[in-house]
Amino acid sequence: MNPIISLPEDLRNKISAGEVVERPASVVKELLENSLDAGASEITIVIEKGGHQLIQVRDNGHGISSDGLSQAFQRYTTNKISNIDDLFNINTLGFRGEALASIASVSEISATSSVDEKSGHQMSLANGVTSDIKAAPPIGGTDITVRNIFYNTPARKKFLKSINSEFRQIVKMVRRFGLDFPDVSFMLEHNNKNILNLTPESLENRIVSLNDPTFRDQLLKVELTKGDYTISGFVGTLNLIRKRPGQQYLFVNRRYIQNRLLNSAVYSAYESLVKRGEYPFSLLNITIPFDQLDVNVHPMKIEVKFIDEWRVYHVVKSAVRDSISSILSTIPSFQHNQQFHGFNKSFEPNQNQEPINFNIFSESKTENNIQGAKDYINSFQIQTKESSVYDGSTLWQVHNKYIISQINSGLVIIDQHVAHERVLYEEALNAFDNTPLSAQTLLFSEELEFSPDEFTVLLEIFPYLKKLGFRIKENGQNKILLEAIPSDMGWGNENTVIKDIIDNYIANRKNSSSFMEDLAASFACHAAVKAGDTLSMEEMQILVNHLFSTKHPYYCPHGRPIIVQLSLEELDKRFERI
Ligand code: ADP
Ligand code: MG
Repeated sequence: MNPIISLPEDLRNKISAGEVVERPASVVKELLENSLDAGASEITIVIEKGGHQLIQVRDNGHGISSDGLSQAFQRYTTNKISNIDDLFNINTLGFRGEALASIASVSEISATSSVDEKSGHQMSLANGVTSDIKAAPPIGGTDITVRNIFYNTPARKKFLKSINSEFRQIVKMVRRFGLDFPDVSFMLEHNNKNILNLTPESLENRIVSLNDPTFRDQLLKVELTKGDYTISGFVGTLNLIRKRPGQQYLFVNRRYIQNRLLNSAVYSAYESLVKRGEYPFSLLNITIPFDQLDVNVHPMKIEVKFIDEWRVYHVVKSAVRDSISSILSTIPSFQHNQQFHGFNKSFEPNQNQEPINFNIFSESKTENNIQGAKDYINSFQIQTKESSVYDGSTLWQVHNKYIISQINSGLVIIDQHVAHERVLYEEALNAFDNTPLSAQTLLFSEELEFSPDEFTVLLEIFPYLKKLGFRIKENGQNKILLEAIPSDMGWGNENTVIKDIIDNYIANRKNSSSFMEDLAASFACHAAVKAGDTLSMEEMQILVNHLFSTKHPYYCPHGRPIIVQLSLEELDKRFERI
């Protein structure tokens, strides 16, 4: 057995470097933190080959003195804390004094800095050898240049991903700092190409700059102070809901953190507006007294411990709840009045004992139906509380795919497929609990055959299919006779719809809580009009009216947006009228 020895300094550094320097993006993170701690207002990041080759961060912060420079690359050298009390009162991003030492131990690094306008100084470190400090011209801040990351730890180098993938991580990191410090300029260059050029701006503008212009009208301000806790920032409307996480930002005392509990505080504030698996945009700045949290949990400083996590939870939740209370009046401000809901109940399938065949998309419309639909449309009135009014007549279908409608504040574009999908989805869910959806009897019943296990499933979900408007009879072994299909469904694809519902059921059976939603969603998806289907004016009007009486007209069961709104203001801006 080998004797126990004390490891040499260089090896110690390499071992702990693994905790701080995982990939190029983590170098960028540490260097940006140092620049921001130094009070920089302008930061330039230059990357070559996804950071494999070069990571350079230049700032206009207060700089490092020549003595400081020789210290800064040692482990546990910092000017940010000096005693144990400081450790529980951290007001800087860094404090552990190990980032530069860690980076230096796995790369070739050089630092140039100046603290006054007269002169600067430079030092470099490679292969464990530190150069002497040399004089350099003043640069009004600090420049740290890191080359050949992991050149001396081949095992780590092997784990580096492709240039593109590492660079994506870097962009993600810079974006995160950009959102954290909207008052700071950030410039990011990759292989001599300018990628980001952010100038100081308001947080709202910074969010838009780092996303796309559609974010502009979709951000709701968050602002709440409770005692010595303050929450500020923005949350997104339902149009910014995504199916994947990644647009939820939490900053505590300007430190980016990850925290499940606080994320769930945000989601739960949206409560009935978002479903499981849907993620609204949020960016929250939490400001609390420094002694209310411990940031010294992990070398990457991305996890923190709150002294009273539930207190933070509640303040975050009420802050978000306050700001989304306005959500329904902000987008896109269609409002039905009471009269609308009260009118001609026969068109509300679930409230009528014998539902009228409200079939807007099959060929089999009766005269009655058409007249009924017309009455229904004419009676359609919208409250004019908000600025936007849909006047019930101006609708256009473009490319057999989108419906365009004028509203007072501009115009809306509706995706016909997802709109119908939303309508059918909610009708289906409703039908499971209430009156079944109306059915249309097929002229000739259709025989469908299944595999034995499909057939078992079919028997299991039989009651639900009936609720959706399918009328089915057993017809010999693994065979059924289909006598009627849901009124809202076009003919011809009933076979696919049923098979798809069965497949979905088999795939998601374990997850029983969402089983009815899955069933409704797969029915809605297949039964809805498709892109490419021509719609008549009546059909469009009925669809739009129905859409706006659903609970969630803004996004489809799969999370895709249904409505895109273009405000007059935006049009006027684009045409340079204002
Ligand atoms: P920490 O940030 O935890 O203090 P680092 O190893 O990241 O540890 O940095 C060591 C020290 O070097 C810092 O405490 C700071 O004094 C100095 N330093 C590093 N980068 C800069 C910079 N860009 N501007 C000014 N000082 C810096
Ligand atoms: Mg640091």
